[in-house]
Amino acid sequence: MTRKSVTAQYPDVQPELPPRTRGVIGLFEENCTVCMLCARECPDWCIYIDSHKETVPAATPGGRERSRNVLDRFAIDFSLCMYCGICIEVCPFDALFWSPEFEYAETDIRDLTHERDKLREWMWTVPAPPALDPGAEEPKELAGARKAAEKLAAAQAEPGAPDPGDPQAPGGPDTADTPDASGTSGTSSTSGTSGTSGTSGTSGTSGTPRQEGPA
Ligand code: SF4
Ligand code: SF4
Repeated sequence: MTRKSVTAQYPDVQPELPPRTRGVIGLFEENCTVCMLCARECPDWCIYIDSHKETVPAATPGGRERSRNVLDRFAIDFSLCMYCGICIEVCPFDALFWSPEFEYAETDIRDLTHERDKLREWMWTVPAPPALDPGAEEPKELAGARKAAEKLAAAQAEPGAPDPGDPQAPGGPDTADTPDASGTSGTSSTSGTSGTSGTSGTSGTSGTPRQEGPA
């Protein structure tokens, strides 16, 4: 009422959408444990999941074999989806996210059932989570990492304390395991992309190692 009307020039000019627009649902399949919660809670029954069980050999001699679910199919029928977001809310493993992508119209309604490859492609269009409020509680993962770093720094700062990086010092690293100084050998750890809601992707998995969602 109080704003001047503006003619959208789409498709020549892309609209400026709010960052948390509910355009389409992206799947981060590494986080999906095939728990079926999303499919069960979807009011429209428009999520289709197929899986099979795989036996994982025992990690130690005499240990028990474990079985885990392997995802075969994950599809969402967007001709039925009502964009309620329940599936995203209930996913305990942060495998589903809203993407602002909206250009997926089809001329045949049957083509609106999108399979896991397409859902995964949309995952990379999910925006980064908004920054926390200044007074918000620090996420548990960050707080744990910060405390460990502070403890290490305090131990190093103590006069006469053994240098944890000195191979001769008690508790120092084993030289056999120390990577080549050139950086060409040894292993390095990398962190995954950071998630949306908590993409945040911050909770654990069963079986598959947990990765974080998009940045
Ligand atoms: S947004 Fe709602 S209707 Fe659409 S797939 Fe998720 S739970 Fe089902
Ligand atoms: S609720 Fe999440 S983890 Fe469970 S099947 Fe759905 S997407 Fe996968």
